[in-house]
Amino acid sequence: MTKNISNKCPICGNEGIHIRSLSRNNIMSELEDYFAEKPPEKIEIIDYEIQQCKNCSLEYSFPLEAGSQSFYQWVTTRVGYYPESRWEWLPVIEQINQREKQNSISILDVGCGGGNFLEIVKKLSNTRIVGLDTTLKSVEKCQARGFEVYCETIESFYNKFSHERFNYILSFHCLEHISQPKQFIASMFSVLKPMGSIFISTPYSPMSVESDWFDILNHPPHHLLRWSKKSYEELAHQLGCEIKFYMPPANSVIARTTNNFSLSKFGKNQTVSKLKLFQEIIKNPTLFLKIFFDQLRRERVNRSVAADIVLVELKLSSKIK
Ligand SMILES: [Zn+2]
Repeated sequence: MTKNISNKCPICGNEGIHIRSLSRNNIMSELEDYFAEKPPEKIEIIDYEIQQCKNCSLEYSFPLEAGSQSFYQWVTTRVGYYPESRWEWLPVIEQINQREKQNSISILDVGCGGGNFLEIVKKLSNTRIVGLDTTLKSVEKCQARGFEVYCETIESFYNKFSHERFNYILSFHCLEHISQPKQFIASMFSVLKPMGSIFISTPYSPMSVESDWFDILNHPPHHLLRWSKKSYEELAHQLGCEIKFYMPPANSVIARTTNNFSLSKFGKNQTVSKLKLFQEIIKNPTLFLKIFFDQLRRERVNRSVAADIVLVELKLSSKIK
């Protein structure tokens, strides 16, 4: 894949404004705080700038250069990196079930990891399931579990199997790592059946914790792109497709306020008792109230408070029901 050396928005091509600088030293120290463990010095990490598109609000890193192999080898082997399940798996399966009944269908999972979702979706009857991943170890794990999985990107898969077409293409938590998002989704449309749907999930940025705590895993070298409703709508506009948003209910305003207060005072890795947290709130009522009012003003999506994760459906022809 060619490197994107422009500092323009990778979706709409407009100018960005500078949000923050993230030097290698900043990143290493934030990773150490996050995992309570010093990352090995030999990890290759470059300096990044964070830009925000003036038109579509997408936050993107400059350069748009993905984390190195050494970074991913380290971060993907941290405890809890790959979740056992994800919220969006169920709504996707429900949507497919409701629409297809007993129809024979095909599903492509782009970035299928070790195959945890494939394991769940294989229970759907009359379904052919194919997975793609670029990590050889994950691909081998899936193949050992009996799945049809290829060590390919969506682009290289299309080049090799250009006759293949799927009813559903799914990609969970990949788009935020991608340097060429428009091309990534366009390649998915190349292997999608005419009436098919693409389901994509990413974090919804800024996440509710980010007003009070810096989340290095939602920044480069891990996440190159930070998606909001406006930036997704621009992506759909650029690709000429329809878009629909799905979200879980957000945590309550009190839960978000308490969590953010705790993170801002104690960081991620301290166990904080309720008593200790309460004493700290009594000492800092102004901060607690500021966080509370910030959270009351949190953006709304589909007329509800924005959660920290979003699932979008992209579809070419006719309006999404
Ligand atoms: Zn833009």
